[in-house]
Amino acid sequence: MKFKLFNYSILLSGLVLFTATSCKKEGCTDANASNYSEKAKEDDGSCTYDAGSLPTGYDKFYNITDIYVDGGNIIIKTTDEPDHVSPFYPTGHALYAPYDGTNTNFSTEISLMGQAEDPDIQAQNITFTVPVNAAENSSHEATGGGPIGVAINGVVFYSQYNGAQQLLDDLEFDNTDQYSGHPSPTNGQYHYHIEPAWLTSQNGDDALIGVLLDGFFVYGPKCNGVTMTNSDLDAYHGHNSATSDFPDGVYHYHCTDDAPWINGDGYWGTPGTVN
Ligand SMILES: [Zn+2]
Ligand SMILES: [Zn+2]
Repeated sequence: MKFKLFNYSILLSGLVLFTATSCKKEGCTDANASNYSEKAKEDDGSCTYDAGSLPTGYDKFYNITDIYVDGGNIIIKTTDEPDHVSPFYPTGHALYAPYDGTNTNFSTEISLMGQAEDPDIQAQNITFTVPVNAAENSSHEATGGGPIGVAINGVVFYSQYNGAQQLLDDLEFDNTDQYSGHPSPTNGQYHYHIEPAWLTSQNGDDALIGVLLDGFFVYGPKCNGVTMTNSDLDAYHGHNSATSDFPDGVYHYHCTDDAPWINGDGYWGTPGTVN
């Protein structure tokens, strides 16, 4: 009897240990993650990342599901739900707020092929695979429709073209909320085409605000305190210069006021994939 009890307690303590280990890792462990992604789970259920273990720039990403180095790529997983208020969140959502910007023509109704839709933001399941060591590719592939990169708050970047591959016009800007984004009327995928006002207002106009699929970072409208214009940049909306994150200089993109798009005629480097 005593012997059996002893066995039972060994089994029980083993179970407790196993359960405790499982709980600690829950939601923060990815079987494919490399040892770059040392992570901890916070009391609110979110994951934090060991900034020192991620390459420079990627330590700024938050509000995402996961981020880690896998071979020569960075993997960034996001539900693409902005961490700021939007009139496109369903009424009753904690981050729903009416439009309070300056555009008197603002409407949440987005015209799609002549039909007015009133989309809500919908959680997505998006994985970006981006090269860690970004390098110029002289073919400068054009950016396509859909996600071309991801902001540091997990919101996807789109190019300057709408679903019909036409340059965005006033009609589209009338659907841009107070933080410069809106959801796609087809699947509720929230995105920024232009400077994400939420990120630059929080972090400064010369802050790193995201990365494109080719692994080159995107900055706000200023470079080291100087407001950029298109004439300061190449056809891809980028240039090689020192930044606060890369004092030795690095190629990076800017959004500018005279053409506010995240990107220009295409990618400077070789784009990774988005799924
Ligand atoms: Zn759009
Ligand atoms: Zn710059």
